[in-house]
Amino acid sequence: MKTSAKKNKKSASGSKSRITKKTSGRHTTSNSKNQRTKKGSLQKSTSQKPKPGNESSDDLMKKYFSDLLKDTLNAEKQLVRALPKLAKASTSSALKKAFEKHLGETEKQVARLEKVFAACDIKMAGKKCEAMEGLVKEGTEAIEETPKGSLVRDVALIVAAQKVEHYEIAAYGSLRNIAINLGYDKAADLLQKTLDEESAADQKLTDISDSLNPKATKEEAPKSKKTAKAISSKQDDEEKENDEEPEEAVYVDEEEEEGEETPARSGFGNSL
Ligand code: FE
Ligand code: ZN
Ligand code: FE
Ligand code: FE
Repeated sequence: MKTSAKKNKKSASGSKSRITKKTSGRHTTSNSKNQRTKKGSLQKSTSQKPKPGNESSDDLMKKYFSDLLKDTLNAEKQLVRALPKLAKASTSSALKKAFEKHLGETEKQVARLEKVFAACDIKMAGKKCEAMEGLVKEGTEAIEETPKGSLVRDVALIVAAQKVEHYEIAAYGSLRNIAINLGYDKAADLLQKTLDEESAADQKLTDISDSLNPKATKEEAPKSKKTAKAISSKQDDEEKENDEEPEEAVYVDEEEEEGEETPARSGFGNSL
Protein backbone atom coordinates (compact mmCIF):
# COMPACT_ATOMS: atom_id res chain seq x y z
CA MET A 1 0.00 0.00 0.00
CA LYS A 2 2.92 2.27 -0.60
CA THR A 3 0.93 4.42 -2.96
CA SER A 4 -2.32 4.44 -1.05
CA ALA A 5 -2.10 8.14 -0.33
CA LYS A 6 -1.95 8.89 -4.00
CA LYS A 7 -4.77 6.51 -4.75
CA ASN A 8 -6.99 8.00 -2.09
CA LYS A 9 -6.39 11.44 -3.41
CA LYS A 10 -7.40 10.41 -6.90
CA SER A 11 -10.43 8.37 -6.04
CA ALA A 12 -11.61 11.11 -3.74
CA SER A 13 -12.51 13.22 -6.74
CA GLY A 14 -15.97 11.71 -6.77
CA SER A 15 -18.26 11.93 -3.78
CA LYS A 16 -17.40 9.69 -0.90
CA SER A 17 -20.85 8.20 -0.69
CA ARG A 18 -20.80 7.21 -4.33
CA ILE A 19 -17.51 5.42 -3.93
CA THR A 20 -18.80 3.56 -0.91
CA LYS A 21 -21.94 2.49 -2.73
CA LYS A 22 -20.00 1.27 -5.74
CA THR A 23 -17.55 -0.65 -3.60
CA SER A 24 -20.24 -2.36 -1.61
CA GLY A 25 -22.04 -3.34 -4.78
CA ARG A 26 -19.01 -4.78 -6.48
CA HIS A 27 -17.29 -6.53 -3.64
CA THR A 28 -19.97 -8.77 -2.32
CA THR A 29 -17.62 -10.37 0.13
CA SER A 30 -16.92 -7.16 1.98
CA ASN A 31 -19.05 -6.72 5.06
CA SER A 32 -21.20 -3.76 5.85
CA LYS A 33 -18.67 -2.55 8.40
CA ASN A 34 -16.43 -1.61 5.50
CA GLN A 35 -18.92 0.93 4.27
CA ARG A 36 -18.67 2.82 7.52
CA THR A 37 -14.91 3.07 7.62
CA LYS A 38 -12.86 5.89 6.21
CA LYS A 39 -11.92 5.45 2.58
CA GLY A 40 -8.33 4.57 3.47
CA SER A 41 -9.25 1.68 5.72
CA LEU A 42 -11.92 0.54 3.27
CA GLN A 43 -9.33 0.00 0.58
CA LYS A 44 -7.01 -1.67 3.01
CA SER A 45 -9.61 -4.13 4.19
CA THR A 46 -10.75 -5.01 0.66
CA SER A 47 -7.25 -5.69 -0.56
CA GLN A 48 -6.45 -7.84 2.45
CA LYS A 49 -9.48 -10.02 2.09
CA PRO A 50 -8.70 -12.94 -0.23
CA LYS A 51 -11.37 -13.80 -2.75
CA PRO A 52 -12.94 -17.19 -2.78
CA GLY A 53 -11.24 -19.58 -5.17
CA ASN A 54 -7.68 -18.83 -4.07
CA GLU A 55 -7.37 -15.74 -6.20
CA SER A 56 -6.15 -12.71 -4.33
CA SER A 57 -7.66 -9.30 -5.00
CA ASP A 58 -4.30 -8.43 -6.48
CA ASP A 59 -4.61 -11.23 -9.05
CA LEU A 60 -8.14 -10.19 -9.90
CA MET A 61 -7.05 -6.61 -10.37
CA LYS A 62 -4.14 -7.66 -12.54
CA LYS A 63 -6.50 -9.68 -14.69
CA TYR A 64 -8.86 -6.74 -14.99
CA PHE A 65 -5.96 -4.40 -15.78
CA SER A 66 -4.84 -6.75 -18.51
CA ASP A 67 -8.34 -6.84 -20.03
CA LEU A 68 -8.56 -3.06 -19.96
CA LEU A 69 -5.17 -2.78 -21.63
CA LYS A 70 -6.29 -5.12 -24.41
CA ASP A 71 -9.47 -3.15 -24.94
CA THR A 72 -7.49 0.07 -25.13
CA LEU A 73 -4.96 -1.34 -27.58
CA ASN A 74 -7.79 -2.35 -29.87
CA ALA A 75 -9.43 1.07 -29.47
CA GLU A 76 -6.21 2.81 -30.54
CA LYS A 77 -5.85 0.55 -33.54
CA GLN A 78 -9.38 1.35 -34.62
CA LEU A 79 -8.43 5.02 -34.43
CA VAL A 80 -5.35 4.54 -36.56
CA ARG A 81 -7.74 3.39 -39.27
CA ALA A 82 -10.40 6.04 -38.64
CA LEU A 83 -8.34 9.22 -38.26
CA PRO A 84 -7.23 9.45 -41.91
CA LYS A 85 -10.89 9.39 -42.90
CA LEU A 86 -11.73 12.15 -40.48
CA ALA A 87 -8.80 14.18 -41.82
CA LYS A 88 -9.93 13.62 -45.38
CA ALA A 89 -13.48 14.70 -44.58
CA SER A 90 -12.40 17.91 -42.84
CA THR A 91 -13.16 21.22 -44.51
CA SER A 92 -10.77 23.50 -42.66
CA SER A 93 -7.03 22.97 -42.89
CA ALA A 94 -6.69 23.54 -39.14
CA LEU A 95 -8.90 20.57 -38.40
CA LYS A 96 -7.32 18.44 -41.07
CA LYS A 97 -3.88 19.14 -39.59
CA ALA A 98 -5.10 18.38 -36.09
CA PHE A 99 -6.39 14.98 -37.19
CA GLU A 100 -3.18 14.24 -39.06
CA LYS A 101 -1.08 15.20 -36.08
CA HIS A 102 -3.19 13.05 -33.78
CA LEU A 103 -2.84 10.15 -36.18
CA GLY A 104 0.92 10.34 -35.70
CA GLU A 105 0.44 10.48 -31.93
CA THR A 106 -2.00 7.60 -32.02
CA GLU A 107 0.50 5.41 -33.84
CA LYS A 108 3.02 6.20 -31.13
CA GLN A 109 0.39 5.45 -28.51
CA VAL A 110 -0.04 1.97 -29.94
CA ALA A 111 3.71 1.43 -29.68
CA ARG A 112 3.68 2.85 -26.16
CA LEU A 113 0.89 0.48 -25.15
CA GLU A 114 3.02 -2.38 -26.39
CA LYS A 115 5.70 -1.18 -23.99
CA VAL A 116 3.12 -1.17 -21.21
CA PHE A 117 2.30 -4.81 -21.90
CA ALA A 118 6.00 -5.63 -21.73
CA ALA A 119 6.60 -3.57 -18.60
CA CYS A 120 3.81 -5.42 -16.80
CA ASP A 121 4.83 -8.79 -18.19
CA ILE A 122 1.43 -9.23 -19.83
CA LYS A 123 1.18 -11.08 -23.11
CA MET A 124 0.16 -8.56 -25.73
CA ALA A 125 -3.26 -9.04 -27.24
CA GLY A 126 -6.26 -7.09 -28.37
CA LYS A 127 -9.88 -7.35 -27.35
CA LYS A 128 -12.48 -5.67 -29.47
CA CYS A 129 -13.49 -2.34 -28.00
CA GLU A 130 -17.19 -2.10 -28.73
CA ALA A 131 -17.37 1.46 -27.47
CA MET A 132 -14.74 2.69 -29.91
CA GLU A 133 -16.50 0.93 -32.73
CA GLY A 134 -19.65 2.87 -31.83
CA LEU A 135 -17.78 6.15 -31.48
CA VAL A 136 -16.12 5.68 -34.86
CA LYS A 137 -19.55 5.01 -36.35
CA GLU A 138 -20.68 8.32 -34.95
CA GLY A 139 -17.82 9.89 -36.88
CA THR A 140 -19.17 8.24 -40.01
CA GLU A 141 -22.61 9.62 -39.22
CA ALA A 142 -21.18 13.10 -38.77
CA ILE A 143 -19.85 12.88 -42.31
CA GLU A 144 -23.02 11.42 -43.76
CA GLU A 145 -25.29 13.94 -42.09
CA THR A 146 -23.46 17.13 -43.03
CA PRO A 147 -22.68 18.67 -46.43
CA LYS A 148 -19.26 18.15 -47.85
CA GLY A 149 -17.11 21.27 -47.72
CA SER A 150 -19.11 22.86 -44.91
CA LEU A 151 -17.87 24.09 -41.57
CA VAL A 152 -20.91 22.47 -40.00
CA ARG A 153 -19.29 19.20 -40.97
CA ASP A 154 -16.10 20.26 -39.21
CA VAL A 155 -18.01 21.09 -36.06
CA ALA A 156 -19.74 17.70 -36.25
CA LEU A 157 -16.41 15.94 -36.78
CA ILE A 158 -15.02 17.71 -33.73
CA VAL A 159 -17.98 16.53 -31.64
CA ALA A 160 -17.34 12.94 -32.71
CA ALA A 161 -13.61 13.26 -32.15
CA GLN A 162 -14.01 14.76 -28.70
CA LYS A 163 -16.28 11.90 -27.70
CA VAL A 164 -13.40 9.64 -28.69
CA GLU A 165 -10.83 11.66 -26.76
CA HIS A 166 -12.99 11.67 -23.65
CA TYR A 167 -13.36 7.91 -23.84
CA GLU A 168 -9.59 7.60 -24.13
CA ILE A 169 -9.02 10.02 -21.27
CA ALA A 170 -11.26 7.89 -19.06
CA ALA A 171 -9.46 4.71 -20.12
CA TYR A 172 -5.93 6.04 -19.66
CA GLY A 173 -6.70 7.82 -16.40
CA SER A 174 -8.12 4.58 -15.02
CA LEU A 175 -5.27 2.46 -16.38
CA ARG A 176 -2.73 4.82 -14.84
CA ASN A 177 -4.42 4.73 -11.44
CA ILE A 178 -4.63 0.96 -11.44
CA ALA A 179 -1.01 0.69 -12.58
CA ILE A 180 0.12 2.88 -9.70
CA ASN A 181 -1.70 0.72 -7.21
CA LEU A 182 -0.36 -2.49 -8.67
CA GLY A 183 3.16 -1.10 -8.43
CA TYR A 184 3.61 -0.94 -12.21
CA ASP A 185 5.55 2.30 -12.02
CA LYS A 186 7.03 2.26 -15.49
CA ALA A 187 3.66 1.43 -17.01
CA ALA A 188 2.06 4.25 -15.04
CA ASP A 189 4.56 6.73 -16.50
CA LEU A 190 3.90 5.51 -20.03
CA LEU A 191 0.14 5.69 -19.52
CA GLN A 192 0.44 9.19 -18.11
CA LYS A 193 2.28 10.30 -21.21
CA THR A 194 -0.55 9.11 -23.44
CA LEU A 195 -3.14 10.59 -21.09
CA ASP A 196 -1.43 13.96 -21.48
CA GLU A 197 -1.49 13.64 -25.27
CA GLU A 198 -5.19 12.77 -25.26
CA SER A 199 -5.94 15.77 -23.05
CA ALA A 200 -3.94 18.04 -25.31
CA ALA A 201 -5.71 16.65 -28.37
CA ASP A 202 -9.06 17.30 -26.71
CA GLN A 203 -8.06 20.87 -25.85
CA LYS A 204 -6.87 21.47 -29.39
CA LEU A 205 -10.25 20.32 -30.71
CA THR A 206 -12.00 22.67 -28.31
CA ASP A 207 -9.89 25.55 -29.58
CA ILE A 208 -10.63 24.75 -33.22
CA SER A 209 -14.32 24.36 -32.45
CA ASP A 210 -14.35 27.74 -30.72
CA SER A 211 -12.95 29.37 -33.80
CA LEU A 212 -15.04 27.45 -36.34
CA ASN A 213 -18.42 27.62 -34.63
CA PRO A 214 -19.13 31.30 -35.28
CA LYS A 215 -18.07 30.91 -38.90
CA ALA A 216 -20.13 27.74 -39.29
CA THR A 217 -23.32 29.44 -38.15
CA LYS A 218 -22.75 32.41 -40.47
CA GLU A 219 -21.85 30.21 -43.38
CA GLU A 220 -24.18 31.08 -46.26
CA ALA A 221 -23.69 28.06 -48.41
CA PRO A 222 -21.30 25.17 -48.51
CA LYS A 223 -18.26 25.77 -50.64
CA SER A 224 -18.11 22.72 -52.83
CA LYS A 225 -20.01 22.45 -56.08
CA LYS A 226 -21.31 19.12 -55.06
CA THR A 227 -22.88 20.51 -51.92
CA ALA A 228 -24.34 23.53 -53.67
CA LYS A 229 -25.98 21.15 -56.05
CA ALA A 230 -27.13 18.97 -53.22
CA ILE A 231 -28.80 21.93 -51.61
CA SER A 232 -30.52 23.14 -54.75
CA SER A 233 -32.14 19.78 -55.27
CA LYS A 234 -31.65 17.99 -52.05
CA GLN A 235 -33.95 15.08 -52.59
CA ASP A 236 -32.69 14.12 -56.00
CA ASP A 237 -29.11 14.25 -54.96
CA GLU A 238 -29.36 12.62 -51.61
CA GLU A 239 -28.75 9.15 -52.86
CA LYS A 240 -26.12 10.21 -55.33
CA GLU A 241 -24.21 12.22 -52.76
CA ASN A 242 -24.15 9.29 -50.44
CA ASP A 243 -22.75 7.15 -53.19
CA GLU A 244 -20.02 9.65 -53.83
CA GLU A 245 -18.95 9.89 -50.24
CA PRO A 246 -16.00 7.64 -49.62
CA GLU A 247 -16.88 7.63 -45.93
CA GLU A 248 -19.91 5.44 -46.29
CA ALA A 249 -17.88 2.37 -45.46
CA VAL A 250 -17.63 1.45 -41.83
CA TYR A 251 -14.09 2.12 -40.67
CA VAL A 252 -13.75 -0.87 -38.47
CA ASP A 253 -13.53 -3.81 -40.72
CA GLU A 254 -11.49 -6.17 -38.65
CA GLU A 255 -12.58 -8.17 -35.71
CA GLU A 256 -9.63 -8.55 -33.48
CA GLU A 257 -10.03 -11.29 -31.00
CA GLU A 258 -7.99 -12.00 -27.98
CA GLY A 259 -4.81 -13.78 -28.87
CA GLU A 260 -4.69 -12.95 -32.51
CA GLU A 261 -3.50 -9.40 -32.18
CA THR A 262 -0.53 -8.67 -34.35
CA PRO A 263 2.13 -6.15 -33.45
CA ALA A 264 0.96 -2.63 -34.09
CA ARG A 265 3.48 -1.86 -36.81
CA SER A 266 2.00 -4.41 -39.12
CA GLY A 267 -1.35 -2.66 -38.92
CA PHE A 268 -0.07 0.73 -39.94
CA GLY A 269 0.48 0.00 -43.59
CA ASN A 270 -3.22 -0.12 -44.35
CA SER A 271 -3.99 3.33 -43.15
CA LEU A 272 -0.87 5.27 -43.99
FE1 FE B 1 -5.18 7.44 -28.21
ZN1 ZN C 1 -5.90 9.02 -29.41
FE1 FE D 1 -13.37 -0.11 -24.71
FE1 FE E 1 -6.82 10.48 -28.87
